[in-house]
Amino acid sequence: MENHTTTWNWDHSYIRLNKLLFSEVTPTPVPQPELLIYNSKLACELGLKQKIDESLLAQLAGNLMNEGIHPIAQAYAGHQFGHFNILGDGRAILLGEHLTPTNERFDIQLKGPGRTPYSRNGDGRATTSAMLREYLISEAMHGLHIPTTRSLAVIKTGDEVYREYVSEGAVLTRVAASHIRVGTFQYAAKYLPKEELSIFCNYVIQRHYPEVANDTNPPLAFLKKVQDKQIDLIVNWMRVGFIHGVMNTDNMSIPGETIDYGPCAFMNTYHPSTVFSSIDRNGRYAFGNQPSIAQWNSACLASALIPIIHEDKEEAVKLCQEVINEFPVIYEQRWAKMMCSKLGVLEEQAEDAELIKELLTWMEENHADYTNTFLQLTHSSEDHTGIYASNEFQSWFTHWKKRIAIYSMHDVNKLLSSSNPKFIPRNHLVEKALYQAANLNDFELFHTLLEVVQTPYDEHPKYDHFQEPPLDGDVGYKTYCGT
Ligand code: AMP
Ligand code: MG
Repeated sequence: MENHTTTWNWDHSYIRLNKLLFSEVTPTPVPQPELLIYNSKLACELGLKQKIDESLLAQLAGNLMNEGIHPIAQAYAGHQFGHFNILGDGRAILLGEHLTPTNERFDIQLKGPGRTPYSRNGDGRATTSAMLREYLISEAMHGLHIPTTRSLAVIKTGDEVYREYVSEGAVLTRVAASHIRVGTFQYAAKYLPKEELSIFCNYVIQRHYPEVANDTNPPLAFLKKVQDKQIDLIVNWMRVGFIHGVMNTDNMSIPGETIDYGPCAFMNTYHPSTVFSSIDRNGRYAFGNQPSIAQWNSACLASALIPIIHEDKEEAVKLCQEVINEFPVIYEQRWAKMMCSKLGVLEEQAEDAELIKELLTWMEENHADYTNTFLQLTHSSEDHTGIYASNEFQSWFTHWKKRIAIYSMHDVNKLLSSSNPKFIPRNHLVEKALYQAANLNDFELFHTLLEVVQTPYDEHPKYDHFQEPPLDGDVGYKTYCGT
């Protein structure tokens, strides 16, 4: 454990880019930094101290900018609910890029550190509850084996934050492959001359997709790669019932990580039109719309890249269109493969599409819980109760049993247990844990829930009740953005 005594190993490659892409800015010091949670395991992975000391605490609160930290706020734009806006880190500040002992590069960013030139009317601050929420859900996503930004620490500031009610403020340390978004390219395309857009694109290629650097058309190959990563990400969201809630182009990360845990939630009862976000009145970002929105976002990235894809704009559009048109085809293939894995089907066959469709239709008609339905597959039919004992489900179950009978049960069970989480962060538990932690300073439930959702494919016999959906379903459950 000796090697966990290193501190930062900064590099600041972003600062060497065009000055229009960021602003130098200092976090606003906070009166009383107090550690709420520190991710020792992640710290170890990063080659940082396993225990937070006073100096690191002060840095992560935004109070101490020493040891080579070079804080900036990044500029970006974005289509928010389909409308184009100029944005930027309004309540986030990048401390720099940290290189781990194995030479991996991670952005280290403070979320909630005070105003920046991009704050518009906002206060640049965040509530304790919202930052603990991001910590919990991002770590749950990591536990689910889904690419995501990580959370290193949450530090209470000692300041009040004014929302609909007065809350305590906190700063989250977010760790990401980078914070470069589709919206960053939209910004670059709008403000940078073509040559500079090209330099920026080459930088991002070198940083995230170096394998396309020598392609005959690197920006086009890059578009394909980013789209590919997005498809994998959305397929993963669909696997576990995750609803991002605000898939604006500024919240779509170029390295393909889940980013920005604002109004996100997990679906209990299966329905494609499920939406929890209070601001998503038309269900633009509903569960079942996520793939088509990701395609839409991919088209936004394509638009931004057009000037550097081909001299002839018409030709560039044509080349982009070919890539974007592939989205639904590739998505459908990967989704079907993923759904087969949720059924323990080792090699996909044509008839499986029907098996999947029948189950989803049954779930929708019977208001079945998405997560728990797949867990029923490891039980024998005598153990099925409630809606799972019904003739309809049993008939499907018999059909399914026949389908998987050609494989070894050992292999089927292995695939089932790696594709289907036993635990998701259930909305009602998340809310209860956050309420107790943020309002009553009682972290017991927060810590147990965190532990369980960090290893969601394992058994947690003491916490079987965490698998239960709320008694009244999700009626009236709402999530809020940017709190
Ligand atoms: P989000 O909904 O978190 O993706 O944020 C959308 C935009 O609003 C981004 O440019 C954020 O930086 C900005 N923003 C969100 N909350 C605040 C805040 N409290 N103060 C300043 N800017 C904010
Ligand atoms: Mg955002």
